[in-house]
Amino acid sequence: MTETPAPQLQRFRQEPKRRTLTVLRVTQLTPAMIRVVLGGDDLADFESLAPDDHVKLFLGAESEGTRPQMRDYTPRRFDALRRELTLDFVDHPGGPAADWARAARPGDRVGIGGPRGSAVITGPIAHWLLIGDETALPAIGRRIEEMAAGTPVTSLVAVPSEADRQGFETAAKHEARWVIRPLSEAADAAPLLTALAALELPPGTFAWIAAEAGVAKALRAALIERGMAPNWIKASGYWVHGQADASVKSLED
Ligand SMILES: Cc1cc2nc3c(=O)[nH]c(=O)nc-3n(C[C@H](O)[C@H](O)[C@H](O)COP(=O)(O)OP(=O)(O)OC[C@H]3O[C@@H](n4cnc5c(N)ncnc54)[C@H](O)[C@@H]3O)c2cc1C
Repeated sequence: MTETPAPQLQRFRQEPKRRTLTVLRVTQLTPAMIRVVLGGDDLADFESLAPDDHVKLFLGAESEGTRPQMRDYTPRRFDALRRELTLDFVDHPGGPAADWARAARPGDRVGIGGPRGSAVITGPIAHWLLIGDETALPAIGRRIEEMAAGTPVTSLVAVPSEADRQGFETAAKHEARWVIRPLSEAADAAPLLTALAALELPPGTFAWIAAEAGVAKALRAALIERGMAPNWIKASGYWVHGQADASVKSLED
């Protein structure tokens, strides 16, 4: 009997490019999520190949002699015709990026860089399992919306309130599971681990995980404990509890 080949992460690189964009619209998407739509001619050649790509947001003026702060955000949607890039920001206390999004107004200017690299996942995936916290929702939502019709996908996402759940327009066969816990407890893996334990893992499941680094690590370990092969899991720490400007892009043993 031949073994099913593992999914592949096909990596694509783009030349680093810095773009200056203008805030077009700001909306409170849900109580904990601010949506900022950016526009400008600099987006003419913008390309984002994978739903979990990220751009660097440059915050703070360089003219003051200080280097700008940089933070990672997911291109939630890109409309090439209108040259509009949508970013969704978790409204958490204390952090220049969240502060910037809360204060953003149409006409504001901001710099972005990237995406520099994309990892396109291909292979014999029979079922997708997308697990994360609110920072992963832009990547999870985009992946679900971009999936081919009928693709089986389960999402398991922790958010601070019922009102923070999001609906996605998709032709995929999507089942959404939500965990509600306060944002102040986003670094506690227990609620997501409990919900994960109740989920079936059909053969051919590929798991994509992004959350606070400790939470993502615990979720990955739980899947491996249940017999999933590490190369059927892609896990990232999108932020690190108690540390500014921190992430763990690839969680491995
Ligand atoms: C590839 C990638 C894609 C990402 N995409 C998105 C995205 O689309 N939307 C999004 O909102 N975030 C996203 N993130 C996470 C985001 O980059 C971090 O949350 C970042 O730290 C926010 O920057 P900040 O300036 O607001 O806070 P920082 O200055 O980095 O941190 C200040 C303090 O806030 C804490 N903190 C940081 N983030 C959170 C949070 N979400 N909840 C509670 N406390 C927090 C830190 O631990 C620290 O104590 C992504 C991260 C990666 C690596």
